[in-house]
Amino acid sequence: MTQRILEAADIESLDPSAIPRIRMPERLAVFAPRAARLRQLASRGNPIAGYLRLMAALADAQQAVLAHFKAQPPSPELIASAQQYSMPLIPALSGARDPAWRDVLLQLLDRIEAAGPPLTPPLVALFARLRSLDVAALEAQADAIFAQRFADVDPASAPFIMAALQVVWTDLAADIDKRAVPYLDTPGLCPVCGSHPVASTLRIGGAYDNYRYLQCGLCATEWHMVRSKCSNCDSTKGIAYQVAGSPDADAAAREAESKNAALKAESCDECHTYRKIGIQAKDYEFDPFADDLASLTLDLLMGAEGYRRASPHPWLWPEQTAGAAETEGDESA
Ligand SMILES: [Zn+2]
Ligand SMILES: [Zn+2]
Repeated sequence: MTQRILEAADIESLDPSAIPRIRMPERLAVFAPRAARLRQLASRGNPIAGYLRLMAALADAQQAVLAHFKAQPPSPELIASAQQYSMPLIPALSGARDPAWRDVLLQLLDRIEAAGPPLTPPLVALFARLRSLDVAALEAQADAIFAQRFADVDPASAPFIMAALQVVWTDLAADIDKRAVPYLDTPGLCPVCGSHPVASTLRIGGAYDNYRYLQCGLCATEWHMVRSKCSNCDSTKGIAYQVAGSPDADAAAREAESKNAALKAESCDECHTYRKIGIQAKDYEFDPFADDLASLTLDLLMGAEGYRRASPHPWLWPEQTAGAAETEGDESA
């Protein structure tokens, strides 16, 4: 008889009732595939292809820096306390932040300059500005991003600051045993760092087959959530799916487009928000972070339908115009 060594995932799949609750990120399997996917999406006639290629260079830089980086892990006491109170293990918002992220930021900028596409004059100016920020200014930007204080987030520098923080948190999350991750009272937030998910994936393969996982926008941990449930307000009523189809399609063509789409927006009529979901069986390379960033057409459609994003894409913060925050939800039409 042939000896077989069973992986943990295989063992779980022997018991069909055991849905794997968590998928921890693998240290070197987050940013490189994301960079490759961003390039692939840029090559498909995307209207923001140039921007996607720059963001691919940023993800490449994250991969290169992470290969030689080790963050300061939280103390066993903090982990134990988080588990006891069902709190995120390494909270982004309230916990201490490894100051090494600021050096990671400088390394990311150096690597993009060395290996990325040629920088436009506004980017040269932005990089100079980022390098000149003092500790207080950098930490204040990180605070504003984590707290989603839109008015205080600088949209131009946010992707780079967030990218540095992602390197630190992904490194930490990759070392966590998934059995140590607590159940939170708030199923819509990452149980490792407490951040919002970026999008979700209906996965294929092994123990994860046909289950839906939300991916954290900061640490890339994925956690299971049943389908047809709003990831923002937990409602199971009023969930609908929309695709960015061709505008002149008739009803039959629209139905076919919806059936074949690898990417949909999952909207909720209880809280009037949406998040995107990727169907891996229809596009195996789907990456929630990259695909969300590259599908602005779908965001425009959902905005026109009266839905707002449940949370911003971590690399794409809305420009704040005076009074913009106040006019939200003010439907006068
Ligand atoms: Zn997380
Ligand atoms: Zn909802």
